Amino acid sequence: MTLRLLAAAAALAIATSAPAAPVLAPPPQLGPDVQPFVHIPAGQIAITHLRIIDGTGAAPVEDATLLLDGAKIAGVQPAGAAVPAGYRIIDGTGETALPGLVGMHNHLYYLQRPNLDAEGHFEQPIIIPQMTFSAPRLYLANGVTTMRTTGSVEPYTDLSLKREIDAGHLVGPHLDVTSPYLEGPGAFFIQNHQITSPEDARKEVAFWADQGVNDFKAYMHLTRAELGAAIKEAHRHGLKLTGHLCSVTYPEAVALGIDNLEHGFFVNTQLDPGKKPDECSDGTGTPTLLKMTPGSPEANALIKLLVDHHVAVTSTLPVFAQSVPQHEPLQARQMDVLSPEAKEAYLFSRNLVASRAGTPRAKDFAQAYKNDLGLERQFVAAGGLLMAGPDPTGNGGVIPGFGDQREIELLVEAGFTPVEAIRIATLNGATYLGLADRIGSIAPGKDADLFIVKGNPAANIADVENVIVVFKDGVGYDSAKLIRSVRGRFGEY
Ligand SMILES: [Zn+2]
Repeated sequence: MTLRLLAAAAALAIATSAPAAPVLAPPPQLGPDVQPFVHIPAGQIAITHLRIIDGTGAAPVEDATLLLDGAKIAGVQPAGAAVPAGYRIIDGTGETALPGLVGMHNHLYYLQRPNLDAEGHFEQPIIIPQMTFSAPRLYLANGVTTMRTTGSVEPYTDLSLKREIDAGHLVGPHLDVTSPYLEGPGAFFIQNHQITSPEDARKEVAFWADQGVNDFKAYMHLTRAELGAAIKEAHRHGLKLTGHLCSVTYPEAVALGIDNLEHGFFVNTQLDPGKKPDECSDGTGTPTLLKMTPGSPEANALIKLLVDHHVAVTSTLPVFAQSVPQHEPLQARQMDVLSPEAKEAYLFSRNLVASRAGTPRAKDFAQAYKNDLGLERQFVAAGGLLMAGPDPTGNGGVIPGFGDQREIELLVEAGFTPVEAIRIATLNGATYLGLADRIGSIAPGKDADLFIVKGNPAANIADVENVIVVFKDGVGYDSAKLIRSVRGRFGEY
């Protein structure tokens, strides 16, 4: 007894920080700002004649009945099985249920280039306004029920948003709040602390762990010693660290114990010409990707290293597809949510990319993009944990929620089957977050975090766009109403 008490006291003394609020908070009472978006209140609900894609990569189950009981999935029944007494029956004929998307490279901001003109010129400093109003609505409306913020510019705002969503005061997905970008001199934008030493990196991680972030993200200009110190401190707090790297190569980061690498294979600089240790290269990874064709000895060695060390990789295809000339235009429903200025910025940029078609730069990038798709497939085939996120930054053509759906479509274009792509965007992210027992797939006993689309994404992946209703903790939210509420707002606030 005494020994056990002593052990407990010692454990408390080691836990130096207040633990972060869990990513999945208990379902709250919904307040007056959330209620208007509720389409189907939580209760005992049976959705009949429904196709279910469960998120494990298995073939869809046809003509099933999905039972929701409050915040949980109560069962999946074959057609014809009797619906238990007391359940409200909703006909799901022609519709498909999928697990809520787990967005692993999502953001709550917009990237603003001051005084951008049609030639693509802009003035410094690039600044990053928060989209705390529009982004959470767009994510939830499009099927994202859990997301990692993957680098914050206003961490207190993101932590407060999480608190308000978890309390039922604001509408949005479950948030895995990530630290500010851990970054040294040379940052792309101005809104972060500039790390100057390994001890400084350690202190920044310790501080944000104490403030309650769930996750850490390193950026492009850290030294190996700084990154190593940050990883060690994050792990000491029981938290994980991912990175969009440049100054540190993928193999170097693996050796330092990193948990996750962002942007597929686009930002590994190990074969970039002129790469100096601890410094970001001019090519920021494109030359390495051009050399690292899938199946090459260099590719095989890197993928074996990542799989052996259980380092996850996040695929962020939509943001890179924007740099391929003649990529698909934004759909009308996406143009509709942009502010007038965001629309203009996107059209300027799209015009410039189109004008580069056929140039060596464009050809190189198209080849790099193709190599990345092959490497992502090779990584999964070798047993690697690939996750999905759109990275709504770049030229403004990747938009929260819509981009998460586009990522799944691009994974299918890359050669994954639709159900494999859906697994990458659901169960794989849940697995990384340590939440696979709660979310990421449709199974009895799991949280009722899922969405319903018209059509059959297993046959036609673009049907993931036809969202009707998104359930989070058993509450069905009206997708169309959420989107209408932010018309013309993304880019503004
Ligand atoms: Zn990003």
